[in-house]
Amino acid sequence: MNKESFNWEYAPAPEAKDHAKIKKQYDLFINGQWVKPSGKKYFDTINPANEEKLSEVAEANEKDVNLAVNSARNAYNKVWKKMPAAERAKYIFRIARMIQERSRELAVIESMDGGKPIRESRDFDIPLAANHFFYYAGWADKLEYAFPGKKPNSLGVAAQIVPWNFPLLMAAWKIAPALATGNTVVLKPAETTPLTALKLAEIIQESGLPDGVVNIITGFGNTGAAMVNHPDVNKIAFTGSTDVGKIIQKAVAGSNKKVTLELGGKAANIVFDDAPINQAVEGIVNGIFFNQGHVCCAGSRLFVQENVAEEVISKLKSRMETLIVGDPLDKNTDIGAINSKEQLEKIKSYLTIGQEEGLELYQSSCLIPGKGYFCKPSLFIGAAQSNRVVQEEIFGPVLTIQTFRTIEEVIEKANNIPYGLSAGVWTDKGSKIFNLTSQLRAGVVWANTYNKFDPTSPFGGYKESGFGREGGLHGLAPYLSF
Ligand code: NDP
Repeated sequence: MNKESFNWEYAPAPEAKDHAKIKKQYDLFINGQWVKPSGKKYFDTINPANEEKLSEVAEANEKDVNLAVNSARNAYNKVWKKMPAAERAKYIFRIARMIQERSRELAVIESMDGGKPIRESRDFDIPLAANHFFYYAGWADKLEYAFPGKKPNSLGVAAQIVPWNFPLLMAAWKIAPALATGNTVVLKPAETTPLTALKLAEIIQESGLPDGVVNIITGFGNTGAAMVNHPDVNKIAFTGSTDVGKIIQKAVAGSNKKVTLELGGKAANIVFDDAPINQAVEGIVNGIFFNQGHVCCAGSRLFVQENVAEEVISKLKSRMETLIVGDPLDKNTDIGAINSKEQLEKIKSYLTIGQEEGLELYQSSCLIPGKGYFCKPSLFIGAAQSNRVVQEEIFGPVLTIQTFRTIEEVIEKANNIPYGLSAGVWTDKGSKIFNLTSQLRAGVVWANTYNKFDPTSPFGGYKESGFGREGGLHGLAPYLSF
């Protein structure tokens, strides 16, 4: 294909947003009611694609956290713990169906608040969030079959803290198994993406779930810290940065609290010379540019076997030229807005660091909007293990490329990193896949595909990527004692 054939013009295909109802101000959702924050403080949530204010949300302080935990405790003791499991399941099924019914509105708000392309929020985040509720609703009255020979018991109150990259989906990952196992919840969304969690609070209120079973409070890091430190919390489920994960780990040391930490990653995506190259190039693109690279399991370190490196890099560059960066609400958009100004600055600082380390930076020639936070898809070619851009999580659309000759070499390089969340392998040989899946120190290894998720399969990391599993049968255990 010559270069001209890529010069397609796409007419704008904007998704309507008039149906998405965003209130001017949101209070805290505690005990089934909307409650004003005791400190009377609110903060803005903005659209990262145009920097316009969407709404303002309450800032919960320690007093509010206490109120939310007490409400969860009351609901646990008085209602939820005593309710037959099959009855609990009905509420969870109802929440799943209501998410489906309101999926269009949720998708639009997710894209407006977080910057991700509507295609992804519509086809990935929201359907998968509903699926998690469906899946765990099914387990609620079958826990004794899930753990044969054991007597599973709920823990009590779960404090759940989620990040900004998959706001509603992460809330679903956390709330659905907690409810199915008979626990009650206090959840905090990230400060830059609170809106779909607050919409979920509306759904929960409408679903008739007993008051206090799920409480959703907004705020900053100190709100999260107050949740973690609250003495009446039995379980902490956290997804976010490794730095905050370490703080939480220290804070709960010596307490009886159960913890799961899903932290950062720096996954190796490995392409062998016998791989279907065109398919692998699609997998590389999906691995690093999906959700602007704001993905803990992003395939951010590409390893290509030396004899096909030239071909892979050339095809990858051509494919990058076709990626559309821009308005998240346009259905043609492949790469939306970077979630926040701070995150864009962090990514830009790594683009500088990589160049200062002597690496060749390649960016696609696309135009990016003048307003809002955007970043061109970027490659660092000729990277080495010691480069900071290889070792540190960038959390943006930036891929490093290294080459390798032997299978032993690539296993050594792939594992030589503080993280261990995920990896990808591209090869024609099943035996090679099995060899790598057993030797790569990563919680998830995808073979000839990437970024595939399903509520039935467990997800989680090794080393500094955290511990505990979410999803599947494994995702029930952290919410139970035996
Ligand atoms: P954080 O870990 O700071 O945020 C994750 C969640 O934890 C948010 O809800 C945050 O609240 C809350 N939080 C912050 N401080 C505390 C604390 N001391 N105790 C309890 N909860 C707390 O991630 P950032 O948003 O700051 O992102 C920084 C980097 O982390 C990114 O650049 C990326 O590399 C990585 N990251 C990894 C993610 C993953 O899925 N593995 C997800 C998100 C980020 P608030 O938003 O109000 O600060």
